[in-house]
Amino acid sequence: AAKRDGRGCARIFNRSMLLLLEQRENLRRSLRAALAHGELYLEYQPIFRPPSSVVGFEALLRWHHPEFGIIPPSVFIPIAEADGIMDHIGRWVLEQACRQARTWPSWMTVAVNLSPAQFLSGALTDTVAQVIDAVGIRADRLELEITETVLLEKTVDNLDTLNTLSVLGIRISLDDFGTRYSSLSYLKNFPFDTLKIDQYFIDDLETDQKSQAIVRSIIGLAHGLGMSVTAEGVETPGQASWLIEEDCDYLQGYLLGQPMAGEVTRDFIRRSAPTPVGTTGGRNRAM
Ligand code: C2E
Ligand code: MG
Ligand code: MG
Ligand code: MG
Repeated sequence: AAKRDGRGCARIFNRSMLLLLEQRENLRRSLRAALAHGELYLEYQPIFRPPSSVVGFEALLRWHHPEFGIIPPSVFIPIAEADGIMDHIGRWVLEQACRQARTWPSWMTVAVNLSPAQFLSGALTDTVAQVIDAVGIRADRLELEITETVLLEKTVDNLDTLNTLSVLGIRISLDDFGTRYSSLSYLKNFPFDTLKIDQYFIDDLETDQKSQAIVRSIIGLAHGLGMSVTAEGVETPGQASWLIEEDCDYLQGYLLGQPMAGEVTRDFIRRSAPTPVGTTGGRNRAM
């Protein structure tokens, strides 16, 4: 029986692999047209300064595929990277996000994720300067989020690029901190304004003393280096109050706000009354 199951599994495995490959090829081809067809769009997730003021939003890319529905960025961004069109898409994201930010109060920021392809193209600083100029927002309203993977290759060039952006007044965040090739030399040499603690460490914060020790240390490290800290993936009031107690500067997560369409961000800002976390009623669905 085991042998038969084994063969059955192997057959199913191969078949689904084939489907996956076909789908990937299919996705790759349709991704090229997606931008032109208006299938790509951004959602915006609020970032809070505790207890409850919205300081800005992170732009998150979505693809509404006519057949497959909403495809998450973790699926199509690697395809776009491999296909060489992420640089092009990234520029579009930057421009859209900056236009959206112009509809918010002038002190609010927009955070945009950058992919390694945008660094490797060598035109990033020019592109960013052109976009903020064309859209007409202050440089210090734009925050660029990069992950540690970006820093692995061409480290000297990347340092140059980030320094130039930083001198322009643009803020730089290190995203998903602590999960990849974290090297303390990056923190010493690169001009980061903010560390974003990955939700991996936030998830079990209420029960795991190791996560608590790690998060506490990251907050101390960041503050010691003059950087601020954002906790990602905050889902429970317990996590939020622990982080506030430990002096975390910014909170982001489903507890405080899900990613939302650009059209509703203004309404969200208006409805976000400055009441402390834990005492609000309707706004935080998870409470
Ligand atoms: P990220 O930059 O670390 O973004 C945070 C991710 O966590 C988002 O997933 C967000 O929807 C999700 N998230 C936020 N709060 C919570 C929470 O409380 N619980 C849980 N479980 N998840 C939460 P999303 O939108 O699927 O994006 C995944 C990743 O794709 C992003 O991770 C980012 O690395 C990448 N990405 C998204 N948009 C872009 C883009 O425009 N350009 C590039 N290069 N990458 C992007
Ligand atoms: Mg991010
Ligand atoms: Mg992140
Ligand atoms: Mg993440």
